[in-house]
Amino acid sequence: MKKTNQEEIQRHNSQLILKTIYDRAAISRVEISRLTGLTRTTVSDAVARFIQDGVVMEVGILPSRGGKPPILLSIVDDARHLIGLDLADNEFRGAVVNLRGKIIQRACISVEGVDGGEALSLVYQLIEQLHNLTDRPLLGIGIGTPGLMDPQKGMVLNAVNLDWRDLPLGDLLRERFGLPIAIANDCQAAALAEFIFNNPENRDNLVLVKAGRGVGAGIVLGGRSMYGDSFGAGEIGHVKMVADGERCRCGNTGCLETLVSCRAIVGRASAAMEQAGRASRMQAFGDSPEAESEIIFQAYQDGDEMVVPVVDQAGSYLAKALAFLVSVLNINKVVIAGSLARFGDRFAQAIQNQVEREVLPALGRDTRVVTSKLGDDIVILGAAGLLLSQEMGVV
Ligand SMILES: [Zn+2]
Repeated sequence: MKKTNQEEIQRHNSQLILKTIYDRAAISRVEISRLTGLTRTTVSDAVARFIQDGVVMEVGILPSRGGKPPILLSIVDDARHLIGLDLADNEFRGAVVNLRGKIIQRACISVEGVDGGEALSLVYQLIEQLHNLTDRPLLGIGIGTPGLMDPQKGMVLNAVNLDWRDLPLGDLLRERFGLPIAIANDCQAAALAEFIFNNPENRDNLVLVKAGRGVGAGIVLGGRSMYGDSFGAGEIGHVKMVADGERCRCGNTGCLETLVSCRAIVGRASAAMEQAGRASRMQAFGDSPEAESEIIFQAYQDGDEMVVPVVDQAGSYLAKALAFLVSVLNINKVVIAGSLARFGDRFAQAIQNQVEREVLPALGRDTRVVTSKLGDDIVILGAAGLLLSQEMGVV
């Protein structure tokens, strides 16, 4: 057997053993050997290396059933830290994350009005800040970025909001920080986070729609992110939904994004409230966009008669787009994430009802539309998950 093959097999076996430990709270060497089909010697050698690296530790002893009592092993959750970044909003957000996806520290930098090389320097700054917030060895840096992205090359092909074109972000960061880098589009990272961290026991195929500043979808099919031939799978934000609609930042008119981005919905709902002479309620909370959004989210959940029709109209456009996605992919689970998730279960249910009516009945019956519970950290967690998968093969 060639040396490279042997090395590959050894690496594969090591990853399999580490994943078997990672997937359980505590497990013995004998049980790992039984579950993986690898010899006890192979398991023991690999475990010895992991213990030496500090990634695995012995945590207890099982009662003996004759012979030496088996020792239980666990992953050391904080043996390595990861840096996760979300570049998809008006501020770059980042966190130090442990091997279980737990957020240890956070940092953020405003990018309002900044793009191109300046935005890139802010990415460097944010990473340096986060680097200083942990004293653990770093596994690497995971990034969720807006726009079209080639995850294999780590190349941002086109991110309109940041004015990045053919930017070799992966290479630049690898050279600067000397760490492994994993990068994906923000919606694809969010979909991966939902797949890995939401309910590890139940890993279904899923379509995740993320709407905040922009609108897009991420798809996880057969346990893998689906990127598409030119990495644009799930780019539903710029499908034309209405004739003579509003001008979109992509240059066309009537795109889905102009109808269902959070900014668009909140803008329309606020206007409806003001028209109905309810401006006082809006003003009471000040002028900040966050406060305004908060009022609209709450008013919708309270069943406000001015706000509900406006939000439901937007939801209806989204449902139309989702009906096509569900029909093409036959994926049963649809997750709504980003700021749109703040409209809650009422919004998800309205979309589910419409999708159910507008697809083949046999598909509609099984479609479930839910809101993500991962909140604002979803892209950071997905980027960290991508890195965990790439570097350790444990998720
Ligand atoms: Zn557009």
